[in-house]
Amino acid sequence: MLLRHTPTEISDRKTLVINPAKTCQPIGAMYAALGVKGCLPHSHGSQGCCAYHRSMLTRHYKEPVSAATSSFTEGASVFGGQANLIQAINNIFTVYEPEVIAVHTTCLSETIGDDLTQIITKASKEGKIPEGKTVFGAPTPSYVGSHVTGFSNMVKAMAQLAEPTSQKNGKVNIIPGWVEPCDMEEIKRLCSMIGVDITMFPDTSGVLNGPLSGEYKMFPDGGVTIKELKEAGQATGTIALGEWCSADGARWLDSKHKVPCTVLDMPFGLKATDRFIDVLRTVAGASIPESVSYERGQLVDMISDMHQYLYGKKVAIYGDPDQLISMVEFLRSIDMCPVYVVTGTPGKKFEKRIKELTADMPYECKVKAKGDMFLMHQWIKNEPVDLLMGNSYGKYIARDEDIPFLRWGFPITDRQGHQYFPTVGYKGGLRLLEKILGLLMDRIDRDTPEETFELVL
Ligand code: SF4
Repeated sequence: MLLRHTPTEISDRKTLVINPAKTCQPIGAMYAALGVKGCLPHSHGSQGCCAYHRSMLTRHYKEPVSAATSSFTEGASVFGGQANLIQAINNIFTVYEPEVIAVHTTCLSETIGDDLTQIITKASKEGKIPEGKTVFGAPTPSYVGSHVTGFSNMVKAMAQLAEPTSQKNGKVNIIPGWVEPCDMEEIKRLCSMIGVDITMFPDTSGVLNGPLSGEYKMFPDGGVTIKELKEAGQATGTIALGEWCSADGARWLDSKHKVPCTVLDMPFGLKATDRFIDVLRTVAGASIPESVSYERGQLVDMISDMHQYLYGKKVAIYGDPDQLISMVEFLRSIDMCPVYVVTGTPGKKFEKRIKELTADMPYECKVKAKGDMFLMHQWIKNEPVDLLMGNSYGKYIARDEDIPFLRWGFPITDRQGHQYFPTVGYKGGLRLLEKILGLLMDRIDRDTPEETFELVL
């Protein structure tokens, strides 16, 4: 493998990224848009961008992802893409009949300076948007931030659909952040167990993890409706899961519509799930049902039963900031040691938070925002770890360094199951532990000499 040649000597690189730990903004915007019912995401730029974003989502979710493009050629690249987008809106509603078109920009349309709000308003004035249909959009320049920023920008654009109101409908807005469709299902299940009536946006459950029914639906049944988004200002509160993915949309609803928001960590692991459940309980004014306490107890039981195999194990982990913060906290809570933590997404606050979460660790934690996988590989070469966690791109490092590898995050292009088995909540914590333990114990079985090879571990 080529990565075998990664040097151990670490040099200071300011203008060179090697093997990025992130991808571009529109992918996040496209994923978020798929969580709106009857929505066709639209990429305002060249065809290549759209093809790349669709294919990455299709490879991860193993579902056909449809999206349209403004299909820029030389003319649009020089004179602007307004004419292309207006024609595209007309064509899409005529041919595919979606309820909603969610437009995101690309590097090219941002560099030209296309103004989505102005173009969409013009399309509306010209009668290109049929009665009862919606077009909205978000700027997603890829030379800023990462796919996480694009997701957040599209979520904020959804929040901006909320209409002014003085009414309250007793519901709670939940912004789940970039998690799997099954994680969104699991969050909804926990809310219903506690008795909280919610509007979740975006909601890709039932869109990207639906059943094979024999009938093709271009617009699957899942997703938040435009009516629900318009009524988001009537909610009694918003719970945003993840500072990077979800907070902007929640804060916008707070400042514009006086819907108070609470920003929490994503509910991966015991402590973050406890905090989420506690806020739900407070919002609902309910006590925690026995069924939720039971699930929590099962997770605590598995942690205490298996602690001996987890204690002190060193982990290298990379991915997106919101997921990493909760996962690092979870790993520390089970006495594992996340010694290397890398995200490609910028954010000094991220490094500070990880340092705080690992302050009690017996080893120093090396953490880098706006980092890359090349650096993580160099750290590993200098001081090996017991487990590597992250998306499918880590398989090259895992193979070259012979490290057990847990696929987690986005994208996972070479395994199945992530769309169906949640890793949030207490049940998700069990699933994560099962996977971590399976890898560590497989390694024990592989490396143990015959005389100590045990049937029972
Ligand atoms: S980085 Fe820019 S040009 Fe490249 S695929 Fe993403 S949006 Fe398109």
